[in-house]
Amino acid sequence: MKISRELSDKIQKVIDEFVADSELFLVGTDNSEEKVDLRKIAGEINTLPIAFDWFECWGITPSKEIILFKYEKPYLIKTETNQKIINMVLSDTAKKYSELKELMPIRNPESIICPGCDGTGINKEFAHIEVLAKSIRCNCGGVGWLPSADQKYLYF
Ligand SMILES: [Zn+2]
Repeated sequence: MKISRELSDKIQKVIDEFVADSELFLVGTDNSEEKVDLRKIAGEINTLPIAFDWFECWGITPSKEIILFKYEKPYLIKTETNQKIINMVLSDTAKKYSELKELMPIRNPESIICPGCDGTGINKEFAHIEVLAKSIRCNCGGVGWLPSADQKYLYF
């Protein structure tokens, strides 16, 4: 994806700040008790970590590519192609880093309001239980809408 030099520089600056932060950011790997420092990995693969799973994480690169990587070498970096996941990561990035708010995904004519949350980003089933509402993501990833009504986006 072609993005402006200016935006690319902004993403790079946030990555550099994340990597330079002196506070350890420990994450676990699936075949070792040992924890690794996510800031070190972020520096090695020049990626800003955004959305976390157990042993892997989605992040964004300075070229606005969304990748999934594991916490241990060789990190098994995979380019994310599912638009629903891409939107989730972009939305999380824009919410978390105000200087990157222009990354917020924009709805297009095919996109639909998410049936799981009616557009709020919080799954209806869990909305009344605060701890679950915060910890369990809606199928839309918290974006509130889906890229289209295609079956592949309707479920996890
Ligand atoms: Zn939703």
